[in-house]
Amino acid sequence: MAWFARWRRSRVLKNAELDPEVWRATIARYPFVTGLEPAELERLRELTILFLHEKSIHGAGGMAVRDEVRVAIAVQACILILNLDLDYFRGWVEVIVYPDEFVAEYEYVDEAGVSHRVEEPMTGESWERGPVILSWADAQQAGRGSGYNVVIHEFAHKLDMLNGEPNGFPPLHTGMQRTQWAGTFSAAYEDFCRKVDGGYELEIDEYAAESPAEFFAVMSEAFFECPALVRALYPDVYTQLTLFYRQDPAARVGSAAIPRARDEARPFA
Ligand SMILES: [Zn+2]
Repeated sequence: MAWFARWRRSRVLKNAELDPEVWRATIARYPFVTGLEPAELERLRELTILFLHEKSIHGAGGMAVRDEVRVAIAVQACILILNLDLDYFRGWVEVIVYPDEFVAEYEYVDEAGVSHRVEEPMTGESWERGPVILSWADAQQAGRGSGYNVVIHEFAHKLDMLNGEPNGFPPLHTGMQRTQWAGTFSAAYEDFCRKVDGGYELEIDEYAAESPAEFFAVMSEAFFECPALVRALYPDVYTQLTLFYRQDPAARVGSAAIPRARDEARPFA
Protein backbone atom coordinates (compact mmCIF):
# COMPACT_ATOMS: atom_id res chain seq x y z
CA MET A 1 0.00 0.00 0.00
CA ALA A 2 1.20 3.50 -0.77
CA TRP A 3 2.77 5.46 2.05
CA PHE A 4 0.04 8.08 1.93
CA ALA A 5 -2.79 5.56 2.26
CA ARG A 6 -1.03 3.95 5.22
CA TRP A 7 -0.56 7.32 6.88
CA ARG A 8 -4.19 8.27 6.25
CA ARG A 9 -5.45 5.01 7.73
CA SER A 10 -3.28 5.35 10.83
CA ARG A 11 -4.75 8.84 11.36
CA VAL A 12 -8.28 7.47 11.00
CA LEU A 13 -7.53 4.81 13.59
CA LYS A 14 -6.00 7.37 15.96
CA ASN A 15 -9.04 9.64 15.79
CA ALA A 16 -11.70 6.97 15.46
CA GLU A 17 -14.51 6.46 17.87
CA LEU A 18 -16.18 3.09 17.96
CA ASP A 19 -18.59 2.78 20.85
CA PRO A 20 -17.11 -0.03 22.98
CA GLU A 21 -20.59 -1.17 24.05
CA VAL A 22 -21.75 -1.50 20.45
CA TRP A 23 -18.53 -3.30 19.55
CA ARG A 24 -18.85 -5.79 22.42
CA ALA A 25 -22.51 -6.47 21.72
CA THR A 26 -21.83 -6.93 18.00
CA ILE A 27 -18.98 -9.40 18.31
CA ALA A 28 -20.93 -11.36 20.92
CA ARG A 29 -23.58 -12.07 18.24
CA TYR A 30 -21.28 -13.73 15.73
CA PRO A 31 -19.76 -17.16 16.42
CA PHE A 32 -17.08 -16.60 13.76
CA VAL A 33 -15.42 -14.25 16.24
CA THR A 34 -15.07 -17.09 18.77
CA GLY A 35 -11.50 -18.23 19.21
CA LEU A 36 -9.87 -15.20 17.61
CA GLU A 37 -6.60 -14.30 19.32
CA PRO A 38 -6.60 -10.87 21.03
CA ALA A 39 -4.34 -9.50 18.25
CA GLU A 40 -6.74 -10.82 15.59
CA LEU A 41 -9.72 -9.34 17.38
CA GLU A 42 -7.97 -5.98 17.54
CA ARG A 43 -7.19 -6.23 13.81
CA LEU A 44 -10.88 -6.97 13.16
CA ARG A 45 -11.82 -3.89 15.20
CA GLU A 46 -9.39 -1.70 13.26
CA LEU A 47 -10.62 -3.03 9.91
CA THR A 48 -14.19 -2.35 11.06
CA ILE A 49 -13.29 1.27 11.88
CA LEU A 50 -11.54 1.74 8.52
CA PHE A 51 -14.40 0.07 6.64
CA LEU A 52 -16.91 2.41 8.31
CA HIS A 53 -14.70 5.36 7.42
CA GLU A 54 -14.19 4.41 3.77
CA LYS A 55 -17.63 3.03 2.92
CA SER A 56 -20.95 4.78 2.98
CA ILE A 57 -23.69 2.69 4.60
CA HIS A 58 -27.16 4.13 4.27
CA GLY A 59 -30.75 3.04 4.49
CA ALA A 60 -33.45 2.78 1.84
CA GLY A 61 -37.13 1.90 1.95
CA GLY A 62 -37.56 3.50 5.37
CA MET A 63 -34.57 1.74 6.97
CA ALA A 64 -32.91 3.76 9.73
CA VAL A 65 -29.24 2.79 9.81
CA ARG A 66 -28.23 2.94 13.46
CA ASP A 67 -24.68 2.43 14.71
CA GLU A 68 -25.51 -1.18 15.59
CA VAL A 69 -26.46 -1.86 11.97
CA ARG A 70 -23.36 -0.19 10.56
CA VAL A 71 -21.01 -2.03 12.90
CA ALA A 72 -22.76 -5.38 12.32
CA ILE A 73 -22.37 -5.06 8.56
CA ALA A 74 -18.77 -3.87 8.81
CA VAL A 75 -17.64 -6.63 11.15
CA GLN A 76 -19.15 -9.35 8.94
CA ALA A 77 -17.60 -7.86 5.82
CA CYS A 78 -14.24 -7.53 7.55
CA ILE A 79 -14.02 -11.10 8.84
CA LEU A 80 -13.48 -12.02 5.16
CA ILE A 81 -10.44 -9.77 4.89
CA LEU A 82 -9.08 -10.26 8.41
CA ASN A 83 -5.83 -11.65 7.00
CA LEU A 84 -6.04 -9.92 3.62
CA ASP A 85 -6.37 -6.17 3.35
CA LEU A 86 -9.07 -3.51 3.18
CA ASP A 87 -7.94 -2.91 -0.41
CA TYR A 88 -9.74 -6.13 -1.30
CA PHE A 89 -12.88 -3.99 -1.07
CA ARG A 90 -11.53 -1.37 -3.45
CA GLY A 91 -13.37 0.24 -6.34
CA TRP A 92 -16.76 0.95 -4.73
CA VAL A 93 -18.07 2.76 -1.65
CA GLU A 94 -21.77 2.20 -1.15
CA VAL A 95 -23.73 -0.22 1.02
CA ILE A 96 -27.51 0.17 0.87
CA VAL A 97 -29.66 -1.43 3.55
CA TYR A 98 -33.37 -2.17 3.18
CA PRO A 99 -35.48 -3.14 6.20
CA ASP A 100 -36.53 -6.37 4.47
CA GLU A 101 -36.45 -8.04 1.06
CA PHE A 102 -36.23 -5.53 -1.75
CA VAL A 103 -37.33 -5.78 -5.34
CA ALA A 104 -34.71 -5.88 -8.05
CA GLU A 105 -35.78 -5.01 -11.55
CA TYR A 106 -33.92 -6.20 -14.57
CA GLU A 107 -34.49 -6.84 -18.22
CA TYR A 108 -33.47 -9.73 -20.39
CA VAL A 109 -34.02 -10.75 -23.99
CA ASP A 110 -35.22 -14.30 -24.61
CA GLU A 111 -34.26 -16.66 -27.44
CA ALA A 112 -37.02 -15.25 -29.63
CA GLY A 113 -35.58 -11.77 -29.20
CA VAL A 114 -38.44 -10.63 -26.98
CA SER A 115 -37.51 -8.31 -24.13
CA HIS A 116 -38.83 -9.05 -20.62
CA ARG A 117 -38.86 -6.96 -17.50
CA VAL A 118 -38.52 -9.00 -14.30
CA GLU A 119 -39.12 -7.92 -10.74
CA GLU A 120 -37.64 -10.25 -8.19
CA PRO A 121 -37.55 -10.05 -4.40
CA MET A 122 -33.97 -10.17 -3.14
CA THR A 123 -32.25 -10.48 0.22
CA GLY A 124 -28.92 -9.24 -1.08
CA GLU A 125 -27.21 -8.09 -4.22
CA SER A 126 -23.70 -7.01 -5.26
CA TRP A 127 -22.95 -4.89 -8.25
CA GLU A 128 -19.66 -4.98 -10.07
CA ARG A 129 -17.90 -1.69 -9.19
CA GLY A 130 -21.18 -0.66 -7.54
CA PRO A 131 -23.04 -0.99 -4.27
CA VAL A 132 -23.75 -3.93 -2.03
CA ILE A 133 -27.47 -4.04 -1.22
CA LEU A 134 -28.75 -5.91 1.82
CA SER A 135 -32.00 -6.81 3.54
CA TRP A 136 -31.53 -6.16 7.26
CA ALA A 137 -34.26 -8.68 8.19
CA ASP A 138 -32.25 -11.38 6.40
CA ALA A 139 -28.90 -10.13 7.67
CA GLN A 140 -30.23 -10.75 11.17
CA GLN A 141 -30.56 -14.47 10.44
CA ALA A 142 -26.75 -14.76 10.54
CA GLY A 143 -24.71 -16.08 13.42
CA ARG A 144 -27.11 -18.90 14.29
CA GLY A 145 -24.88 -21.70 13.08
CA SER A 146 -27.08 -22.47 10.09
CA GLY A 147 -24.49 -21.44 7.53
CA TYR A 148 -26.70 -18.58 6.36
CA ASN A 149 -25.06 -15.17 6.24
CA VAL A 150 -26.22 -12.74 3.57
CA VAL A 151 -23.57 -10.14 4.45
CA ILE A 152 -20.67 -12.57 4.07
CA HIS A 153 -22.32 -13.89 0.90
CA GLU A 154 -22.50 -10.51 -0.81
CA PHE A 155 -19.00 -9.45 0.23
CA ALA A 156 -17.61 -12.77 -1.01
CA HIS A 157 -19.10 -11.80 -4.39
CA LYS A 158 -17.17 -8.53 -4.10
CA LEU A 159 -13.91 -10.47 -3.70
CA ASP A 160 -14.87 -12.68 -6.64
CA MET A 161 -15.49 -9.53 -8.74
CA LEU A 162 -11.97 -8.18 -8.17
CA ASN A 163 -10.94 -9.86 -11.41
CA GLY A 164 -14.12 -9.30 -13.41
CA GLU A 165 -17.52 -10.97 -13.62
CA PRO A 166 -18.24 -13.19 -10.62
CA ASN A 167 -17.42 -16.79 -11.54
CA GLY A 168 -16.23 -18.41 -8.31
CA PHE A 169 -12.62 -17.62 -9.18
CA PRO A 170 -11.31 -14.69 -7.13
CA PRO A 171 -7.72 -13.52 -7.62
CA LEU A 172 -5.56 -16.14 -5.90
CA HIS A 173 -2.46 -15.42 -3.83
CA THR A 174 1.08 -16.16 -4.93
CA GLY A 175 1.77 -19.81 -4.24
CA MET A 176 -1.84 -20.92 -4.78
CA GLN A 177 -2.45 -23.10 -7.82
CA ARG A 178 -5.12 -21.98 -10.29
CA THR A 179 -5.54 -25.54 -11.56
CA GLN A 180 -6.02 -26.83 -8.03
CA TRP A 181 -8.63 -24.17 -7.23
CA ALA A 182 -10.49 -24.82 -10.48
CA GLY A 183 -10.35 -28.62 -10.17
CA THR A 184 -11.39 -28.63 -6.53
CA PHE A 185 -14.28 -26.22 -6.94
CA SER A 186 -15.56 -27.78 -10.20
CA ALA A 187 -15.61 -31.28 -8.69
CA ALA A 188 -17.39 -30.09 -5.55
CA TYR A 189 -19.84 -27.97 -7.55
CA GLU A 190 -20.72 -30.89 -9.81
CA ASP A 191 -21.18 -33.16 -6.82
CA PHE A 192 -23.36 -30.55 -5.13
CA CYS A 193 -25.54 -30.06 -8.22
CA ARG A 194 -25.95 -33.83 -8.59
CA LYS A 195 -27.16 -34.02 -5.00
CA VAL A 196 -29.59 -31.14 -5.49
CA ASP A 197 -30.93 -32.76 -8.67
CA GLY A 198 -31.20 -36.08 -6.86
CA GLY A 199 -33.37 -34.53 -4.18
CA TYR A 200 -30.90 -35.12 -1.33
CA GLU A 201 -31.57 -33.16 1.81
CA LEU A 202 -28.53 -30.95 1.91
CA GLU A 203 -26.93 -29.33 4.88
CA ILE A 204 -25.64 -26.43 2.80
CA ASP A 205 -28.01 -24.00 1.11
CA GLU A 206 -28.94 -25.40 -2.27
CA TYR A 207 -28.84 -21.94 -3.75
CA ALA A 208 -25.14 -22.82 -4.17
CA ALA A 209 -26.17 -24.94 -7.17
CA GLU A 210 -27.26 -21.80 -9.03
CA SER A 211 -23.80 -21.16 -10.54
CA PRO A 212 -20.07 -21.47 -9.69
CA ALA A 213 -20.20 -17.85 -8.44
CA GLU A 214 -23.04 -18.67 -6.03
CA PHE A 215 -21.25 -21.86 -4.98
CA PHE A 216 -18.20 -19.83 -3.95
CA ALA A 217 -20.36 -17.25 -2.10
CA VAL A 218 -22.46 -19.86 -0.26
CA MET A 219 -19.33 -21.91 0.62
CA SER A 220 -17.77 -18.71 1.97
CA GLU A 221 -20.83 -18.14 4.18
CA ALA A 222 -20.63 -21.69 5.47
CA PHE A 223 -16.82 -21.48 5.86
CA PHE A 224 -17.27 -18.74 8.46
CA GLU A 225 -20.65 -19.75 9.92
CA CYS A 226 -20.26 -23.55 10.19
CA PRO A 227 -16.67 -24.33 9.12
CA ALA A 228 -16.60 -27.87 10.51
CA LEU A 229 -19.47 -28.77 8.18
CA VAL A 230 -17.63 -27.50 5.09
CA ARG A 231 -14.46 -29.28 6.20
CA ALA A 232 -16.42 -32.54 6.65
CA LEU A 233 -18.36 -32.31 3.36
CA TYR A 234 -15.76 -30.84 1.00
CA PRO A 235 -12.33 -31.01 2.67
CA ASP A 236 -10.47 -29.88 -0.47
CA VAL A 237 -12.75 -26.85 -0.87
CA TYR A 238 -12.18 -26.11 2.80
CA THR A 239 -8.41 -26.22 2.27
CA GLN A 240 -8.58 -23.88 -0.73
CA LEU A 241 -10.72 -21.46 1.29
CA THR A 242 -8.21 -21.51 4.17
CA LEU A 243 -5.50 -20.61 1.64
CA PHE A 244 -7.58 -17.85 0.08
CA TYR A 245 -8.91 -16.29 3.29
CA ARG A 246 -5.70 -17.13 5.18
CA GLN A 247 -7.79 -18.37 8.08
CA ASP A 248 -8.79 -21.72 9.53
CA PRO A 249 -12.12 -21.06 11.26
CA ALA A 250 -12.78 -24.73 12.05
CA ALA A 251 -9.55 -24.83 14.05
CA ARG A 252 -10.73 -21.76 15.97
CA VAL A 253 -14.14 -23.04 16.99
CA GLY A 254 -13.29 -26.74 17.24
CA SER A 255 -15.23 -29.34 15.35
CA ALA A 256 -17.67 -30.40 18.07
CA ALA A 257 -20.83 -29.03 16.53
CA ILE A 258 -21.89 -29.72 12.98
CA PRO A 259 -25.18 -27.87 12.84
CA ARG A 260 -27.97 -28.35 10.36
CA ALA A 261 -28.28 -25.68 7.72
CA ARG A 262 -31.45 -24.12 6.42
CA ASP A 263 -32.48 -25.97 3.35
CA GLU A 264 -35.37 -23.91 2.06
CA ALA A 265 -34.74 -22.01 -1.13
CA ARG A 266 -34.13 -18.32 -0.99
CA PRO A 267 -34.32 -15.87 -3.82
CA PHE A 268 -31.17 -13.87 -3.63
CA ALA A 269 -28.28 -12.99 -5.85
ZN1 LIG B 1 -25.13 -14.55 -4.60
